[in-house]
Amino acid sequence: MALRSLSSAADPFALSHHIQLTSSFLPSIELHKGAAAEFHRKFYLKTECNACTMAHQALGSSKHGFRRKITLDDKDMPQQWYNIIADLPRPLPPPLNPKTLQPLNPNDLLPLFPQALIEQEVALQAYIDIPEEVLDVYSMWRPTPLFRARRLEAFLETPARIYYKYEGVSPAGSHKPNTAVPQAWYNAQAGVKKLTTETGAGQWGSALAFACSHFGIGCEVWQVRASFDQKPYRKLMMETWGAKVHPSPSNATMAGRAILATDPSSPGSLGMAVSEAVEAALADKETKYSLGSLLNHVLLHQTIIGEECLKQLAMVEETPDVIIGCTGGGSNFSGLAFPFIREKLKGRINPTIRAVEPAACPSLTKGVYAYDFGDTAGITPLLKMHTLGHDFVPDPIHAGGLRYHGMAPLVSHFYNLGYIEAIAIPQVECFKAALQFARLEGIIPAPEPTHALAAAIRECQHCRETGEEKVILLALCGHGHFDLAAYEKYMAGEMVDLQYPQEKVSEAMARIPSVT
Ligand SMILES: *Cc1c(COP(=O)(O)O)cnc(C)c1O
Repeated sequence: MALRSLSSAADPFALSHHIQLTSSFLPSIELHKGAAAEFHRKFYLKTECNACTMAHQALGSSKHGFRRKITLDDKDMPQQWYNIIADLPRPLPPPLNPKTLQPLNPNDLLPLFPQALIEQEVALQAYIDIPEEVLDVYSMWRPTPLFRARRLEAFLETPARIYYKYEGVSPAGSHKPNTAVPQAWYNAQAGVKKLTTETGAGQWGSALAFACSHFGIGCEVWQVRASFDQKPYRKLMMETWGAKVHPSPSNATMAGRAILATDPSSPGSLGMAVSEAVEAALADKETKYSLGSLLNHVLLHQTIIGEECLKQLAMVEETPDVIIGCTGGGSNFSGLAFPFIREKLKGRINPTIRAVEPAACPSLTKGVYAYDFGDTAGITPLLKMHTLGHDFVPDPIHAGGLRYHGMAPLVSHFYNLGYIEAIAIPQVECFKAALQFARLEGIIPAPEPTHALAAAIRECQHCRETGEEKVILLALCGHGHFDLAAYEKYMAGEMVDLQYPQEKVSEAMARIPSVT
């Protein structure tokens, strides 16, 4: 009640001041009654403040309360990951061996991944216990907070309520350590000495570097050239955790040399960097490869986000109407959404679930659903996914983590079955949303989740028109402290929207393998 009446206040800035004041005084009723009332008399010429009184009442009953952040106790951190494969409405098309085009034998993956992760890739049980050692590392930053975006709501004058699950509190600054830590741990258990990987924005490389250093194994990273040049501090962060970093394409691999021979100034792509990291892992028996998105086991590890969030929303008696996440390979989106899709499949809730991708790399909205390689050189197994073609080189937009030609097979499958919607948003609108968010909510988002933010703002504007009090749940999967060069560009008015290069994609589509 208290909240509803506040939401409809006429002056959003007065309101947001009011909220800030109220919540900062909440711990001490004495203080509130004295100093806050004085503040109100001065600034609002009011002698009584009903809303403040109501705020205190709301604090007692948590329903839509004035809680800016909803936190779980350490002891309430989920102890299992959720495996959505157990609940699929229709079976997932299997990965194929690229040579025989027959379903892949899981053992074919042993040169790249340890047994335990391959088992998780094909596991059928709904819940998988998180190992003690992994829970222990998770507890450094998990459970992560769920925030209510009160000031943004007020600014937008929307009746919608926005909650955002913030993964930027991890040491690497994003959701990626949720899978880097178990991957490094299972590899270390299997006696692996080093992991290789690719990184786009540098988020995944830093997460894996952090995780490997934790378990005493080596880490070698191929960072997409465009981001290597734009973000020197991500490289230094990886090096601080002990990793070795190459720009990709590099001279260190055959795949890299082949690309440089035809295009010496290639900006790189995630697909190219995958080729290099896979090649390096295959060349050494004690080295394996690690992927930061796309595969089933990666999405599995990320479900801790959604499992926590279910508990957090229950604490404030909220049910989401719209769940929004950005999609590069699909892991942060799935991590938040899959536990809610489980509840949807069981008929308990019915949220709209919306994936948001960059207009310059629209694999769900403009790609085709087909078998394709995960890398540019064509050495990985074939995955059935929404793809723009494995040798599609997206323009070097600022959301480096979203510059990937394909989408996770599980996300593609659910999209194909109609459980998920997708939209593409150009980057200028995303950064506009990011600045509003940073100025109102404080957190400076990574360029990737600005796509989710822009979509949430569109939804709020829609709610303002219709008067719907929707509950919007948003994946704020990382901070942008290493991405300020992108913010600088935007603020200088130099950021441009890059068109979807239809011809280039059609060309690339002609080169995907034909599987009947
Ligand atoms: C890597 C990354 C992404 C894209 O990857 P997904 O697998 O789609 O989550 C998005 N946001 C951030 C902050 C990332 O680090």
